Amino acid sequence: MIIKCGEMTDILSLSREELAEQLVGMGEKKFRAAQVFKWLHRRNAASFDEMTDLSAQLRNRLKEKFCLNNLFIEKRLESDIDNTVKYLYRLPDGNHVESVLMEYSYGNTICVSTQVGCKMGCRFCASTIAGYKRDLAPSEILRQIYTAQADSGRKIAGVVLMGIGEPLDNYDNVVSFLRLLSDPEGFGMSLRHVSVSTCGIVPRIYELAELGLGITLSISLHAPDDESRSAIMPVNDRWGVDELMTACRHYFAKTGRRISFEYALINGHNDSRADAAKLAALLKDFVCHVNIIPVNKIKERDFRSDRASAQRFRKYLEELGINATVRRTLGADIEAACGQLRREAEKSGKTD
Ligand code: SAH
Repeated sequence: MIIKCGEMTDILSLSREELAEQLVGMGEKKFRAAQVFKWLHRRNAASFDEMTDLSAQLRNRLKEKFCLNNLFIEKRLESDIDNTVKYLYRLPDGNHVESVLMEYSYGNTICVSTQVGCKMGCRFCASTIAGYKRDLAPSEILRQIYTAQADSGRKIAGVVLMGIGEPLDNYDNVVSFLRLLSDPEGFGMSLRHVSVSTCGIVPRIYELAELGLGITLSISLHAPDDESRSAIMPVNDRWGVDELMTACRHYFAKTGRRISFEYALINGHNDSRADAAKLAALLKDFVCHVNIIPVNKIKERDFRSDRASAQRFRKYLEELGINATVRRTLGADIEAACGQLRREAEKSGKTD
């Protein structure tokens, strides 16, 4: 995707073909583009001077035409119990986003942000409270991964788009990002190891189904009917539970990929046996998985839950034949629900 940074072009957001066009337009041979692409996406070059197999003259021409959009690690919080690392990154324009690197038995997975803030207004979510600023470019989503891998020295094997922002509200950039991430000449990540999480932007779910990318779609359902969902998620007023479930059925029919439903458990709101029965009825005959998350407490709201309630809810679902797990808590000692670091940075006036 062609994105401008002032007079210059954001080189990391360009597809391999777009990069080749740009370099050929500068009078360079096409194979130069393959070299540059590798430096950017495989070798995480933070400057053109690192690209030592290019002539000094070409490196200077690249510097004049392209920007690299490096991220600055403003804060790094490392867990002492489970190797979770939380990054607060500063973007070139002074805004902040967060990523979390987590260790699972099958490898390191990173949770990345897709927007600076979020417009969706979910009542329990800190990302919304700090306000929406702008969308992230494909390069800025990629850089969260490349920078964390280089900084930690840990190979990243999976990506979840569950950080700050609503991925399907930044659809074009997110799709470009996914194509770049999986380019076999670049980082080369299999999209089978990538999850895209959405609060339910229904038309985009249909569009995504057409692309056949092989990603896992994760739906933030959080409530089993319109009344309780609308009370915590304004997006439900636009696309209700039935419309969302129809889109999910279509997505599965089209892609054959099992859908994952996220269910943030909130005491007294969506955690009763009756809620479990409604949820089971909704998901009956559906190839899916339910991920129960005890809601993370955020300062501004009095939503609460705990692991015991989550286990109880999981049992209700199990009795009704629904496959569910309680999400493991990682990085409990650096606990900061999504969006909280950015908000702190914002409060202390570090963001413009
Ligand atoms: N906008 C996307 C992705 C970002 S949020 C979405 O809504 O899916 C990632 C996940 O964290 C979502 O399931 C979201 O609902 C959940 N979440 C946000 N705040 C939370 C909190 N305080 N406790 C538990 N889960 C939360």
